[in-house]
Parts: sequence; C-alpha cells; structure tokens
Amino acid sequence: MTSTATPLPERLRDRDLLRDAAFVNGQWIGAASTFEVRDPATGDPLAVLPSLGAEDARQAIAQAKAALPAWRALSALERSRILRHWADLVRENADDLATILTSEQGKPWGEARGEVVYSAQFLDWFAEEGRRVDGSVIPSHTPDARIIVIKQPIGVAAGITPWNLPAAMITRKAAPALAAGCTIVMKPAEQTPLTALALTRLAERAGVPAGVLNMVTSGDAVPIGAEFTGNPTVRKLSFTGSTEVGKILMQQAAANIQKLSLELGGNSPFIVFDDADIAQAVEGVVSAKFRNAGQICTGANRVLVQRGILEEFSAALRARAERVRVGNGFEQGVEMGPLIDQAGLEKVERHVADLVDQGGRVLTGARRSPLGHTFYEPTVIADVGTGTLPWQDEETFGPVASLTPFDDEDEAIEMANATEYGLVAYVYTHDVGRVWRVSEGIETGMVAINSGRVSNEQAPFGGWKQSGLGREGSSYGIDDWLELKYINLAGLSR
Ligand code: NAP
Repeated sequence: MTSTATPLPERLRDRDLLRDAAFVNGQWIGAASTFEVRDPATGDPLAVLPSLGAEDARQAIAQAKAALPAWRALSALERSRILRHWADLVRENADDLATILTSEQGKPWGEARGEVVYSAQFLDWFAEEGRRVDGSVIPSHTPDARIIVIKQPIGVAAGITPWNLPAAMITRKAAPALAAGCTIVMKPAEQTPLTALALTRLAERAGVPAGVLNMVTSGDAVPIGAEFTGNPTVRKLSFTGSTEVGKILMQQAAANIQKLSLELGGNSPFIVFDDADIAQAVEGVVSAKFRNAGQICTGANRVLVQRGILEEFSAALRARAERVRVGNGFEQGVEMGPLIDQAGLEKVERHVADLVDQGGRVLTGARRSPLGHTFYEPTVIADVGTGTLPWQDEETFGPVASLTPFDDEDEAIEMANATEYGLVAYVYTHDVGRVWRVSEGIETGMVAINSGRVSNEQAPFGGWKQSGLGREGSSYGIDDWLELKYINLAGLSR
C-alpha cells in the first residue's frame, strides 16, 4: 500500500494490469466515444475508457458464439486447469488488484484485498464444480428403454455487474459460466470497470482463449442491456444490481424467453433477541451495515431489537459506531471509505431526514463527515417507526443503522417479512428452538445466525421474492449455466 497522493499507475507493481480498453475476442479495443472513471474518495479522474455501444456488443456476442464450440469441446479438466491458473494469478496480483479496486470504488484497501481473494475463490470453486457436472439414468416405464439425463452448457451467456463488489461479481458469474463450457460477454459497472479489466488481463494470461471471456465497457448501459437481452444468440443473462433494473431486463428478456439469473436488491432485517450476546451482535451490525460504507446488497437495512435490551444494545452500538474510523481507503486503520458518488450521498441524506422527521432519535452521526466529498459519518438512529423509507422497501445503501423495537418472536418474524425483498436475514440468539423457528419462518434465501456475513463461494447465494432468481456459488451455482437434456434410449430388448 502506498501514499494516497501517488498516481494510480505508480502504486502498481504491474502497471500492465491497468487497462484503458475493452476486451473482445482476445483484442483490447477502443471506441469513438469514451467515459471517465473517478476516485470516489477525491473526485480525481483515474482513467478514460471506451464507451462501447449496441453494435460493439453485437460483435462481442458473435465472437463469443464463434469461440463456443472449441471451448465447450474441451474436457472439464482442461477448462478447470485454466480457471485454476487464473485464480493463482489473481492471488499473486492481489495487492495490485486491491489498489485498483480501492482507487475506483473507495472501500478500505484491506477490505478490497479480501474481496480480491474472495473473487479468486469462485474461480477455484467452479474449477472443481465443472468437473462434477454429471447426469443420471432413470428406469423407464417400458422394460426395453432407459431414460438418460445429461447436462450441457447453456451456450453464449451475458453478464452485467454492479459497482459495489467490482471483483467478486465478475468471477461469481464468469467462473461458473466458463467451468460449465459457456462463453460470456460481460458489462462491468460504469464506475468500476478497471478491476474487471485487470481481472480480464489475468484471464488472458492464464490462457482463456480469445472470444471465451469478453469485457464490454460502456458509459451507457441501456443499449448494451437491450442487445444482451434482444440478441437471440444470448441464451442466458446473469445480472447483479438493483431490482428496478432487474425488472427492466426481465421484461426485455421475455421476448426471447432468455434464461435469467437475477441477484437484486435487499431490505435485510437484523434481529437481536434478548438472549443474544450483545457485543457479538454489535460487531455483526458493524459488518452488515458499515462494511463498504453500507453499500452492500446484504446490508442490514432494518435493525430489530427486542425491547428489553434496547437501551443496552443501542448504547453499545453507538459507542462502536463512534470508533469506526472513516477515511481514504488507502490510509492505515481506516474501516470505512466514502460513498460511491454524490447521488449515493444524497440518498443517504434523504433517508436520514425521513427517519428523523418521523420521530427517529439520532444516537450518533446523521451528517456528512468533515472529510468532505462523499464521506458520511457512521450513523445510528433509534426509535425508527415502520412508516419510514426502509420500512417502505427502500435500500438506504449507506452507513445508517436504524433501530426498531419488537416485543416477541412472532412479531419479529412478521416485521422481518413485511417487505417485497427476501435476500438475507440476520438473527442473534442462543436459543436453539428459536433458531429453527425463526430460520424457517423468515422469507429470505439466506439466514445468518449470530453472524454478520453470509457470502462465501461454498454457499448458495440468492434471494426470495423480489431479491431475485437463481443461485450463485455452491454446488447449486453451476446449474444455472447448464441445460438438462433427457434421452429416451429405447429398443434395448433382444
Ligand atoms: P444498478 O443501477 O442496477 O446497476 C447495476 C448494473 O446494471 C451496472 O452495470 C449498470 O450499468 C447496469 N445497468 C443500469 N441500467 C441498465 C439497463 N437499463 N440495462 C442494462 N444494464 C443496466 O445497480 P447499482 O447501483 O450499480 O448496484 C447497487 C444495487 O445492486 C443495489 O440494489 C444492490 O442491492 C444490488 N446488488 C445485489 C447483489 C446481489 O447479489 N443480490 C450484489 C451486489 C449488489 P452502469 O454502471 O453503466 O449504470
């Protein structure tokens, strides 16, 4: 890690990882128009990148189609070796990748490095899972036949990723796609394409053949999304981002009955029961609310606290929030960086104003940081009512912990489920019976018990209700990139 004043290229051991071009069919390409990438901590420009359009996306899809037969024909072991090599290169270059990530996204460098290592784990995991894609033989209703089920790669795929996890969301899609034998065209978020391009450079070095992984950068997502969904060559789209954009893409994809994986927004409840370990629960909120400055889909949007421990818990959380060190992600000891942009900052301010207007009691924060720019103070607000924006299904997407009391288990479950979202719920209790009752009663794809984190490559990540479709990671995660085929093998009798 180097000084915040040093220009980005000079901070890198391997400057070749800093790319200023898109990547299609093994070529680094430019475009007539461009867009700028900025450092959210300073507002300084970092890079100028080509802004590709619908025609470029069409070309990339055509190249992915041309590359498909040879990639699909490789053995799973051959594909696995390339993915493992890519994973090794990501780990070897983790410091540089983290530096690029922090520069364009703002999260603390150590947290960025953690995300980079996590992104390599998807490559490792799916390098293994790709080798376990099997089928089955089912007894037939006629004695002279067998029913054989095989799994085949879905074909050319597309991926669209958000800015909050610029490394992990790329490999969480590219790894299972490539392991399954698909080729893919991806569009990273406009604010954070540099991490995606650095990962792509490493994929190229690892031996991913031309056309198999394509990275289309753009300052205008709409025509790219229209091409990804409207082009009949693309058999599957995997999207991570807001529910609002997910709905648009789902409508567009309907024209071709395109297969979809959607990892969308959340409105996660964080429930603290009166038998919980309060110190542990406080650290859980720090992880689920202040990590990445609250800009995570799994962020605790509503903290529900059982009334008997409300004062003790609030005081402990307030004290801990006041110790969260805010600053430029390159400074030692910083736990929380800036918000991604001015719009993100204004959204947080709108939420805080709403919480306070409706009777919320500010325990700490609730204002911009003296550091200026898009920095915001870690905030804790108590006595939050259920008429407020988080309870109306708006993601705050910022470092604001809003606390609402509840009386008993049934009420907690009912309150937790009072949302159209269903990504994750956090539950703090040591009562085993309650763990089961609440886990089963909550309508989310993931439940974290006594932990503020759920994401890892071994587990099926995904949501219920309007939080999405499909699962990423785990042994289930490769299924979304495969088609089933049943072969009726008859005429076996002599
Ligand atoms: P977003 O506005 O939905 O953008 C996500 C991606 O979609 C970006 O690449 C964006 O491109 C692109 N996009 C925007 N409009 C599009 C359109 N009409 N057609 C095609 N692509 C389009 O979301 P965000 O603000 O970047 O990310 C935050 C959201 O992502 C939050 O809601 C968060 O909960 C969710 N998220 C979910 C998960 C999960 O796994 N469930 C993980 C992380 C984040 P531009 O960058 O060019 O606008």
